[in-house]
Amino acid sequence: MKKTAVVVGSGFGGISAALRLKAMGYEVSIYEKLDQLGGRARVFKKSGFTFDAGPTVITAPFLFNELFQLFGKDRSKYVKFVEVEPWYRFYFSSNKKTFDYSSCLKKTEKEISKFNNKDVIGYRRLLNFSEKIFNIGFNKLSFVPFHDFFFMLKQIPTLITLKSYLSVFQLVSKFIKNEQIRQAFSIQPLLLGGNPIETTSIYNLIHFLERKWGVHYAMGGTGKIIKGFEKLMKEENIKIFKNSEVTNIVFDKNVAVGIKVKKRKISADKIILNTDPAFTYKYLINTKLNKKWNKKKIEKMDFSMGLFVIYFGTKKKYSKIAHHTIWMGKRYEGLLKDIFNKQILAEDFSLYLHRPTATDKAMAPKNCDCFYVLSPVPNLKNNIDWKNYGKIYQEKILIALEKSILPELRKNLITCFHMSPSDFKKDYNSLYGTGFSISPIFRQSAWFRFHNKSENFKNLYFVGAGCHPGAGVPGVMSSAKVLENILKNE
Ligand SMILES: Cc1cc2nc3c(=O)[nH]c(=O)nc-3n(C[C@H](O)[C@H](O)[C@H](O)COP(=O)(O)OP(=O)(O)OC[C@H]3O[C@@H](n4cnc5c(N)ncnc54)[C@H](O)[C@@H]3O)c2cc1C
Repeated sequence: MKKTAVVVGSGFGGISAALRLKAMGYEVSIYEKLDQLGGRARVFKKSGFTFDAGPTVITAPFLFNELFQLFGKDRSKYVKFVEVEPWYRFYFSSNKKTFDYSSCLKKTEKEISKFNNKDVIGYRRLLNFSEKIFNIGFNKLSFVPFHDFFFMLKQIPTLITLKSYLSVFQLVSKFIKNEQIRQAFSIQPLLLGGNPIETTSIYNLIHFLERKWGVHYAMGGTGKIIKGFEKLMKEENIKIFKNSEVTNIVFDKNVAVGIKVKKRKISADKIILNTDPAFTYKYLINTKLNKKWNKKKIEKMDFSMGLFVIYFGTKKKYSKIAHHTIWMGKRYEGLLKDIFNKQILAEDFSLYLHRPTATDKAMAPKNCDCFYVLSPVPNLKNNIDWKNYGKIYQEKILIALEKSILPELRKNLITCFHMSPSDFKKDYNSLYGTGFSISPIFRQSAWFRFHNKSENFKNLYFVGAGCHPGAGVPGVMSSAKVLENILKNE
């Protein structure tokens, strides 16, 4: 008899785990609450436009390739990746300056020199230091389990040498003097749910990760990767159940033995959760044996910010707008404090604007443009009434874009809708409607983060943003590699 595994949730973490377990010989089923796979990487189709709901920046392509290679298949036959140029364009609304960050180091250095010539050398040094962090943080620690405290202790001297006690912003500031370039090179934690001022500088490894493998786009959108994985899973006989919310994990004392879906019990040898661990421990694990992560401890954790995302299609083409634009507002540290510490919705904002039609015309009808714009906002701990305020906030952002880089935007809209933290809570079962589960601060990283192997229960495992190594597509796909390592050694 083959061993059985159920995977709950079909984000990039859940799908990667399902495929890895299948390749290990398990009979695998995947249960997803929504009517499509992908989790935060799902797709909205409206009025001829294709909107990727979440991740758009594809890095570390080898992680995708590996999953196809497990079955002797070639990723490029399922989905094509192309490199984006420039990687990101920063637009500083205070002085209307732009900074193109690109695959060509020379071009990037020339752009830096528009702000401060001396920072060119600083950037080279930052990149060198990021490579050192990458060699440890990504190559050595991203794919190994962190549930052994002594293993964690052994890493501390190296983490100190790498200055992991500094925040991303503090480390960048040691190398870069210009305030705007400091901002540009320290925003990466925001892509993972962290405050650059507080997130451990181990995340500076992203600088080198981007340089090593580039910044890519999947033709047809990120949703096309999910479609490719869905096809692969069907070919490999992984059973897929959509519209199937798991309401409980079933235990026999301290052993996880199954899940409950629509009041039906489904038994399995291994239960893999791709759900938000904070939500799961609070609502899906109803046993007194849950000692490590009881409700009180969950409440005390530090949660990532929320996201307000507006999806819109225009009948005008904005050909000068890059694929990825980071639209920086007037404040940086003050705004971050408002979002993360004071948890208030500020009058101003900084934005990430996605225009996939810069690379891929098929995402919109002919002569039209497809966009989403994302604003980091406080999570639901602050009780913002998004049902009423959502439309007002949406309008404020559209006006700001219209006045700066997208002239006549509102009269050219064909379709426009948004997702607020309330939708993240409802659709993804995300505690406090966060964009990225718990935040990636030092005291919630590695051993201190939710473990990939449950501390209290046998046969129960986690993959995805809330557990080690953390959020972001490379992070959650790596969590499935960690799981594979755990299971191989059990
Ligand atoms: C707007 C946005 C933009 C982003 N941009 C990028 C980017 O450009 N690059 C990048 O690398 N990362 C990006 N990220 C982060 C990245 O998308 C996420 O960290 C990652 O996709 C999360 O994957 P996951 O495996 O944790 O699962 P999730 O995507 O969170 O999926 C979990 C799934 O489980 C389902 N589920 C929950 N509870 C249950 C239940 N009880 N029963 C059944 N199903 C359940 C949920 O509905 C969901 O479908 C972005 C995130 C967002 C929101």
